[in-house]
Amino acid sequence: STQSGYIGRFAPSPTGPLHFGSLVSALASYLDAHHNGGKWLVRMEDLDPPREQAGAADAILRCLEDYGLGWDDSVIYQSQRWDLYEAYLSRLRQQNLLYPCDCTRQDLQAMGGIYNGRCRSRHPDINQPHAQRLKLYDLPTGFFQSDELRFTDLIQGEQTQNLRTQAGDQILKRKDGLYAYQLAVVVDDIEQGITHIIRGSDLLDVTARQIFLFQLLSAPVPKFGHVTLASQSNGQKLSKQNLAPALELKDAGTNLWLALAFLGQKPPQELYGATSKELLSWGKNNWQLPAIKGLSAIYSPLAPSIR
Ligand code: GLU
Repeated sequence: STQSGYIGRFAPSPTGPLHFGSLVSALASYLDAHHNGGKWLVRMEDLDPPREQAGAADAILRCLEDYGLGWDDSVIYQSQRWDLYEAYLSRLRQQNLLYPCDCTRQDLQAMGGIYNGRCRSRHPDINQPHAQRLKLYDLPTGFFQSDELRFTDLIQGEQTQNLRTQAGDQILKRKDGLYAYQLAVVVDDIEQGITHIIRGSDLLDVTARQIFLFQLLSAPVPKFGHVTLASQSNGQKLSKQNLAPALELKDAGTNLWLALAFLGQKPPQELYGATSKELLSWGKNNWQLPAIKGLSAIYSPLAPSIR
C-alpha cells in the first residue's frame, strides 16, 4: 500500500485498441492517483471472449507504455480469476441472495428492460441453461431502509437511483456460463483494495448497483468519479464500436495534450507536442479533478485547440 492509501485503477476490456476516449479515462485515473500520491493499477477485463479481439490486450498495454502511463504491481487478467468469482457467488448463494433465471431477452423486453424478479418464485429447471440473478431489493428487513441508493460522485455530484425501478435484479453469471462484468468488477475492486474509481461516464448508470454489491459483501465502498466521455464533433461517442482511430506512438505528445485539454486542465500551448514525460509531469502537478465537470465533451481531431 502507499503512504496516502489511495489505490486507483484502469480496467480496459480488450475489445480493440485504445482510442482517444479510452485515453481520456486512463489519463484521468492515472493523474488523479499520482496527484494524490497513490498507486495506479491496470486490470485486463478479458471476461467475455466473444466480444474480444485477438491481440488487443497486448496492444492496449503497449500503448499505455508508449504514452508513459506506467502501472504499479503486475497486471491482473480476469480470465484467470474464475475460481475467485465462483467463491464470491457461493457466498451470495449461502445468504440466499441468488436465484436461477431462464428468462429470455424477449421476456426482459416485455418487462420494459428492467427485470421484475419473475424467476424469484418460478423455480426454473436447473438442469437447463440458466443465469444466476442477484436479489437487488426485498432483502431481509433491516438490511436496507429503501430501494433508493444515493452516492456523491467526485465529478458529477449527488446521484440517486431506485434499484427496483431503474436497475432490477442483475445477472451475475450468464446463461452461457460466463461471469458477468457486474460481479467481476466489484470482486476485483474489493480484492485489489481499490479506493478510487475514476472512469468514463458511460458507467455512471451501473454504479448504484455496484455500490449495493460492495455493501452486500460487507466491503468498503470506493469513491467514484465519472469523466464526461469524449465524443466526436458529430456528437457520437468515441468508442471501439464506432471505430474511433487507434492511438499511435508518434502522436503521443499531441494526444496527451488534447486529452489534458479535454479534461479541462488548460495545458500551456507551448507543451503541445511535448514529450509524454513532460506532459504527464505537468498534468500531475496541476491536476484539478473538479475542472472535469461541465465539459462540452466535444473532441475534434482536426482542431488542436479545443479550449
Ligand atoms: N472494462 C470496462 C470497460 O472497458 C470498464 C470497467 C470499469 O472501469 O469499471 O468498459
